[in-house]
Amino acid sequence: MIVMKFGGTSVEEAKAIDRVASIVEGRLAQKPLVVVSAMAKVTDTLLTMARAAGAGERKTALKLCRSLQERHYSTASELLGTAMFTEFHSELGADFEALDELLRGISAVGEITPRTTDHVAAFGEMLSSKIVAAAFAARGLKGAHVDSREVLVTDSAYMQAVPQYEETNTRLQAHVQPLLDAGQVPVMGGFIGANRTGITTTIGRGGSDFSAAIFGAGLNAERIEIWTDVDGILTTDPRICPDARRIKVISFDEAAELAYFGAKVLHPATVLPAIQKNIPVYVLNSRNPSCEGTRITTRAPQGKNLFKAIAAKKRITIVDVAAPRMLLAHGFLRSIFEAFDHHKVSVDVVSTSEVSVSLTVDSNQAIPALAADLAKLADVKYEGRKAIVCLVGENLREKPGVAALVFRELADKKIRMISQGASEINLTFVIEEDEVPDVIQRLHTTFFGELDSEVFA
Ligand code: ADP
Ligand code: ASP
Ligand code: MG
Repeated sequence: MIVMKFGGTSVEEAKAIDRVASIVEGRLAQKPLVVVSAMAKVTDTLLTMARAAGAGERKTALKLCRSLQERHYSTASELLGTAMFTEFHSELGADFEALDELLRGISAVGEITPRTTDHVAAFGEMLSSKIVAAAFAARGLKGAHVDSREVLVTDSAYMQAVPQYEETNTRLQAHVQPLLDAGQVPVMGGFIGANRTGITTTIGRGGSDFSAAIFGAGLNAERIEIWTDVDGILTTDPRICPDARRIKVISFDEAAELAYFGAKVLHPATVLPAIQKNIPVYVLNSRNPSCEGTRITTRAPQGKNLFKAIAAKKRITIVDVAAPRMLLAHGFLRSIFEAFDHHKVSVDVVSTSEVSVSLTVDSNQAIPALAADLAKLADVKYEGRKAIVCLVGENLREKPGVAALVFRELADKKIRMISQGASEINLTFVIEEDEVPDVIQRLHTTFFGELDSEVFA
């Protein structure tokens, strides 16, 4: 079997879902399991309406809900035709009634918790997966909707729930394998699951890729296909650099590094379950299905270019912790990291001197409280609007002069932190957020001007 995951833009409207149906039809012999995201922007809208309801703005929340309802109804009716839509209408109607009731409840209480946030957010994938399954059936594809909340078992860390693999795999065998065996095409929502008591959870933004990998690993897929709106993993973000080129083959490690440092094309955790089982992952374009895309494998040719890709992660805050009186006191670093751990703030880049430590974190609401805690240990400063830039390429440590080549190009820029060596495959540094386009474009011109055709298209 194979897993085919379609992202938000690939299911954003009836025409896109039609394309998905014909792509899946071409793979029927390989027994596909289809995983879909919510229609484009729907998760954002759901989260906005949950927050509005939480702030007691009931009218705003319900109005947003109506617009989502219209969009889903019109997509479904366009796909299904009048006769089939009439049947399906009541099913969608029941979901929107439930969402409506939920929003009214939240606004009555005037509080939104992570648990209720997940309840609301899950409607995106619930709805899109039902619509896609119905559209498949309407096209004679034997689409069978499977509710992911009955299959993907997670812990109860709402909004960032952790999959429980053993139980999930048991349920995949019980609920999904028989459908594949019977020649049906199971359609499941990504991103959503439930804890052991059946309460809805989500596994983190962009998590549908992760769902696809979990399902693929659990069902021993031959391959996992991540269908999106670009030709594959590109040398950099095409919105920053329109001349970004397609990478034909990339290693799991390189792809994980890129994803972690901001290349939105793939969820960071996706590659994990796939690596463990040696399942090849492909990134493909649903608007250009004949393009070969990018293949992610355990080992990939390095080629003549120094780097494979450049990623940038914005909304970074630098936290500087200086302890003038402690001079590397024993246990100082440990107590700093304990404070980060306590506030559940994860650190990306670290650099230390004898008396101070600088760390980068994703900008978030926990920082003021964290800083207050750290201030008990040392002098603390924090500064937002930074970005991490990460150049990825295998075996960088063995190549002399890499850093000099990079920073020569950026001689006029203020570079805040530099890190090479944590992994052999990235060179990472921190700059001002508004410098990202200029820095990426310059580096791209320098390092991707001439490309090795074995690796790049
Ligand atoms: P989906 O909805 O299919 O999950 P995403 O929006 O999550 O799609 O990811 C695809 C987008 O990622 C692309 O449209 C592109 O703008 C962005 N992106 C950022 N960096 C890269 C990169 N290096 N290669 C390809 N796409 C990238
Ligand atoms: N719909 C979810 C999100 O927007 C999950 C996904 O698309 O991967 O984060
Ligand atoms: Mg995505």
